[in-house]
Amino acid sequence: MLNLILFGPPGSGKGTQAEKLIEKYGIMHISTGDLFRYEMGNNTPLGLKAKEYMAKGELVPDEVTIGMLKNKVNSNPDAAGIIFDGFPRTIAQAKALDEFLQEKGMEVTALVALDVPEAELVARLLNRGKSSGRADDNDESIIRNRISVYKSETAQVFDYYSISGKSRLIPGVGTVDEIFNRLATAIDEAC
Ligand code: AMP
Repeated sequence: MLNLILFGPPGSGKGTQAEKLIEKYGIMHISTGDLFRYEMGNNTPLGLKAKEYMAKGELVPDEVTIGMLKNKVNSNPDAAGIIFDGFPRTIAQAKALDEFLQEKGMEVTALVALDVPEAELVARLLNRGKSSGRADDNDESIIRNRISVYKSETAQVFDYYSISGKSRLIPGVGTVDEIFNRLATAIDEAC
C-alpha cells in the first residue's frame, strides 16, 4: 500500500499536485485543511474549535487533528493507498501516524516535500485568496504567520522522516506538469 506524505509550506502546491497524484496512483487524498474547512462550513463543534486557530494561521491542537485524521482513515478501509496532504504538521502528529499505520501493518512509504522560495509562497497565496474564499489567504500577516508556524513547528517533520531515509526534497517551482513529473519520479523510486 502506498502511503505518501505530500509535504511543504502553505502555497507550495500540495493541493494541485495531490489532484494529479490521486489520478496517477489511484489512491485516496486526505487533506486535514479540507476536512477542517468542511467541518467549519457545517458549523460542527469540531469546525468551530478549528476556526479559532485557522483564522489566526495557527495549528489546530494535535489531539483534535489526530483524532479527525484517524476517523477519516478508519472510515475508508478499502483505500488502495493514501496521500496525506497537510498532515503530519508536528513531530507528535508524525509519531501518532507511524503508530497508527503500524497497528494496521502499514507504514509511510515516502515523504515528498515541495521546495518553494518564501516570496513566491506569499505571492501565490495572495493570488489564491482572490478566488479561494479562504480568510487565511487574504491577509498578508496571517499568511506570514502560517509560513512562520511551518518553519518553527512543521519543517522538522522532514528531518524526522529523513532518519529512516523516506524524505525527498523536490523543487516546487516550474509548470504544474514539470513539478508533477519530478514528484512521480521520486515516488516511483521510493516504492
Ligand atoms: P491547509 O489547508 O493545509 O493550508 O490548512 C489550513 C489550516 O488548517 C492550517 O493553517 C491550520 O490552522 C489547520 N490545519 C490543517 N492541517 C493541520 C494539521 N495537520 N495540524 C494542525 N492544524 C492543521
